[in-house]
Amino acid sequence: MAYDFIEVPADGEPVTLEDEDTGALSVPDEPVIPYIRGDGTGVDVTPAAREVLSAAAEATGRKIHWMRVYAGADAEERYGELLPDETIETLETYRVGIKGPLTTPVGAGYRSINVALRKTLDLYANVRPTFHLDGIPSPMKHPEKMDLVCFREATEDVYAGIEWEAGSDEVEDVRRFLEQEMGEAGSIHDGPVGIGIKPITEFGTKRLVRRAIDYALEHDRTFVTLVHKGNIMKFTEGAFRDWGYEVAEEEYGDEVITEDTLWEERDGEPPEGAVVVNDRIADAMLQWLMLRPDDYDILALPNLNGDYLSDAAGAQIGGLGIAPGANTGDGRILAEPVHGSSPKHAGKDKVNPTAMILSGQLLFDYLGWEDAGELIIEAIESVIGDGIVTYDLERQMEGATKVATSEFGNTVADRIHELA
Ligand code: NAD
Repeated sequence: MAYDFIEVPADGEPVTLEDEDTGALSVPDEPVIPYIRGDGTGVDVTPAAREVLSAAAEATGRKIHWMRVYAGADAEERYGELLPDETIETLETYRVGIKGPLTTPVGAGYRSINVALRKTLDLYANVRPTFHLDGIPSPMKHPEKMDLVCFREATEDVYAGIEWEAGSDEVEDVRRFLEQEMGEAGSIHDGPVGIGIKPITEFGTKRLVRRAIDYALEHDRTFVTLVHKGNIMKFTEGAFRDWGYEVAEEEYGDEVITEDTLWEERDGEPPEGAVVVNDRIADAMLQWLMLRPDDYDILALPNLNGDYLSDAAGAQIGGLGIAPGANTGDGRILAEPVHGSSPKHAGKDKVNPTAMILSGQLLFDYLGWEDAGELIIEAIESVIGDGIVTYDLERQMEGATKVATSEFGNTVADRIHELA
């Protein structure tokens, strides 16, 4: 493959992760893994995470050949565009990757490159696990009670990017259509208005909920909770709930039951190994996250609810500096931290690379490198246990030593080699 700018690794044969005959995921011990450095603090957290991930791969008898691909500010510089075709092609070909955060301007300016990546590569399930690591300070009395995985739909909802600016011809056409043809006269105040559209489809909902239920069955988790605001947005978020229950009731037989059945027929006692599907209204769910986090295992959420809820859940176990995520599609993964590019801290070698490192651990799990992933978690807990932390945790811990992003990465990488 001839690329203009992509840095194909010089050492080792670039091997894609696809079996030539079957097309199935096939992971060699020396894979090429494309990475996007990211904007803002991407320059800090991405090198630190690469160092730790390389160390964990080596300590378990493997080697990663990193291939840099471009998106965001660095792509603009090299290609004159924010998301070049080469980047998309490479991520399609190699099927796996990891990315740092990318900046999106508020209000005017370009649309989100993150959203574009998820849509173009059809990475429809944004998976965000939230669990407490030993030693990490938290505002909660019992942060260890939280052990959740959020499955956030990532291709539709208000993130679909269908919106029109106040004052544009388009917005006036849409207003006229709503008022004159859809019976909505008087529904919108007079004067300038911006209008957005919130599509939620049966297709998009069902494939997301299937992924959440499959994950619960595979990982021995009991509850899958559909989190929606269907009392207000009946035909979008209410439909998300109804289609979610349809998947549970029609596609899994006895393996999956609903919460109603659990109480009506089983007195609250789930059958051995079964998954129970229930639902909660999104605003109440934020309360339950604080009051009864141990009642919840897997959450399935429309895009916007998933964005809000996973940040709030992340705060309860120590903040955005340690909250990992992965964009996943059918046979594809692009891991990325939950946090953004935090421009005010960019290039200061200051922020916490743990979220990016743990996103790499999710990628490792996907590759079947669970042993390397466990080593990463053990090393992070051990280093934090020694009180060696970045600024975000240091200010919440008594007697801790504040280190730079790069130093934290070095220390965790060294600890991996010591523990292996
Ligand atoms: P942000 O997540 O970048 O930062 C918010 C705050 O969270 C920071 O001020 C800091 O206190 C904390 N934080 C973030 N990363 C941290 C880290 N690694 N270690 C310690 N603390 C950390 O959110 P923002 O300021 O709202 O957004 C900045 C930019 O990032 C925007 O352009 C936004 O669109 C973009 N963004 C990108 C992604 C993504 O790439 N997936 C996600 C969210 C936001």
